Amino acid sequence: VPTVSVFGISVCKWGMNDTLAHVAGMVESGKPHQIITANPIMIMAALEDPAYKKIMQDAELVIPDGTGLVWAAQKAGDPVTERVAGFDLLHELMKEGERRHWKVYLLGSTPEVIQEASRRLSIQYPGTEIVGFRDGYFGPDQDAEVIANIVAASPDLLFVARGADTQEPWIGKYKQALGVPVMMGVGGSFDIISG
Ligand code: UDP
Repeated sequence: VPTVSVFGISVCKWGMNDTLAHVAGMVESGKPHQIITANPIMIMAALEDPAYKKIMQDAELVIPDGTGLVWAAQKAGDPVTERVAGFDLLHELMKEGERRHWKVYLLGSTPEVIQEASRRLSIQYPGTEIVGFRDGYFGPDQDAEVIANIVAASPDLLFVARGADTQEPWIGKYKQALGVPVMMGVGGSFDIISG
């Protein structure tokens, strides 16, 4: 993967098409991967918090979601192809999942939002099976139960919306236990999808 370093974080330089092809390969590999959709706030968080920085450095793929990152790479003289928004990648993966018969688990947001997001995504992408969903308001004492539910559903993709300060560390901490081939934080995406 061609990358540009932005404050010590290796950000993928590919545009959407190459990124999507690479992520499809991650799914087919069956091994767990964490994708981080980076924006300047997350880079700032990484600069202030070594633990957060390590999560970003350990992620298998960091994509340039924020326009500020696209700008920073340009300024550094090593531009990325284009902005690759996590919201767009989510939709592209749902679309690709129809061709490849992928299974998806949706985690995060309120119970109402995640149920409606699941309903709408299953209508928009009927060939991609949503094998489970649950809200993102649970504490560390429920992590084991949440993980067991996801593992039992054995999805190819796991989208997590719990706020950037929580979702990326959560995925990073439980990457191996979850074992989902592609796990990605999607922030406020379910709120938008549910209308
Ligand atoms: N969220 C969640 N659990 C939490 C906090 C937030 O599921 O403990 C959800 C929230 O409902 C929303 C998404 O995470 O759907 C993004 O939240 P927010 O916009 O507050 O976070 P940010 O992306 O600004 O960090």
